[in-house]
Amino acid sequence: MTNTSESDEDTPRVPVVCPDCETTSRVPLSTVADAIDRHNEQLHDGDDVAEVDPDVADRIADLVAAELGLLEDGA
Ligand SMILES: [Zn+2]
Repeated sequence: MTNTSESDEDTPRVPVVCPDCETTSRVPLSTVADAIDRHNEQLHDGDDVAEVDPDVADRIADLVAAELGLLEDGA
């Protein structure tokens, strides 16, 4: 029994897909932009090949809004 995954569950992870490399990796939301930049720079000469999985891209905005506390219910 370990609790080492405790902090992981606090961090929303988003799937990043790269059709050229045929890979999918889950990256913490806070570092996803850097991860994509680094991947594309190192493996694809800076071309925008890897990207956030389109299936979840729509939900990213909601996750970010929640992280930033923009979803306030006070009016
Ligand atoms: Zn790639």
